[in-house]
Amino acid sequence: MSIINRMQKPPNLLDMIKALISTPSVSSVNPALDQGNLSVISLLANWLSGLGWQTEILPIENHPDKANLIATLGSGPGGLVLAGHTDTVPWDEGRWNHDPFKLTQADGRLYGLGTADMKAFLALAIEAACQFSPAQFREPLILVATADEETSMSGARALVAAKRPQARYAIIGEPTGLRPVRMHKGILMESIHLRGRSGHSSDPALGNSALEGMHTVLDTLTSWRRQLQAENINKLFRIPVPTLNLGHIHGGDNPNRICADCELHIDLRPLPGMELAELREILHARVTGALEDSGLEISFKALAEGTPAMDTPASSEIVRCTEALTGYSAAAVAFGTEAPYFNQMGINTVVLGPGDIDQAHQPDEFLDEARIKPTLELLRELIQRFCVNPPDQTG
Ligand SMILES: [Zn+2]
Repeated sequence: MSIINRMQKPPNLLDMIKALISTPSVSSVNPALDQGNLSVISLLANWLSGLGWQTEILPIENHPDKANLIATLGSGPGGLVLAGHTDTVPWDEGRWNHDPFKLTQADGRLYGLGTADMKAFLALAIEAACQFSPAQFREPLILVATADEETSMSGARALVAAKRPQARYAIIGEPTGLRPVRMHKGILMESIHLRGRSGHSSDPALGNSALEGMHTVLDTLTSWRRQLQAENINKLFRIPVPTLNLGHIHGGDNPNRICADCELHIDLRPLPGMELAELREILHARVTGALEDSGLEISFKALAEGTPAMDTPASSEIVRCTEALTGYSAAAVAFGTEAPYFNQMGINTVVLGPGDIDQAHQPDEFLDEARIKPTLELLRELIQRFCVNPPDQTG
């Protein structure tokens, strides 16, 4: 077969997954490990434009080696988004039995970094769409491939800033074992730094202890946590209350010196309905109030931009439809996704994908081959339902 012939034919599903897995796209907060995702984006864009999709690569500000892809089949308003992130987490050198960057078929499984979380989903979405022609669509099918989900969510944030895509519904194929998910908690990580004055330990008047000030902060935070957990309960979650973890503390240097500096890092996981900005304001006000007369200098720093909670209404058509097709009622999960950003754009979103979260971020990550057929069937049903015969929005 000549190269030209091969280019005209869509690559088969397994070849697409193979190519995606063997194109490294690790994202990491450690710059030494961070790889960018442009090669995955261009693979996808080439396949999709060869298949007649309109493709658009959207660069991400301050990340020259990263981009999002929006590909559209059909046209007009509304439509269904099938979305996935193109980046993976780093891998544990020496702990894999299979090459993380080579798709290995064994034991009825597809092994490789990104098989479950979640490059394979993008190939499955393309394969599912191959059965349709844009002439059949009353509303478009949109494939969105993002950057940096595993770290800063800069890809999803860039989409929100550009107000792209515009659509009615979205499926994000994160590993949920083919069960629909409509809720997850948010994430807020904050540093609290107290600065006092050092001095000889023998005379407390010589200094101002940041460490003792932090003791007051810890009390303030644990009582705030009690209040948050009494006032906010959502039984859909396995841990039905917001959590506040005191994760890191460092202060002082020597027993005979008054401690001048003390820093605490906390992780707060709010339930849907609890706004990050508001929580941050309350946190600052409580800590500042508790230390009002202490003479200590207080500074706060967000350790990450934070991810909002996901909350897609149970009554949304995409929730009902995925529940009916899978036979499971939409659940709440413990991990964060890009879904709240799609919801912010007015796109009702369900997280639903073929991998299992237990295999994500693990050595020997795999996708069960038995999931492939039901995933393709499910995606085809969804495309049929939301692009070929979309629900009447006027009634
Ligand atoms: Zn993921």
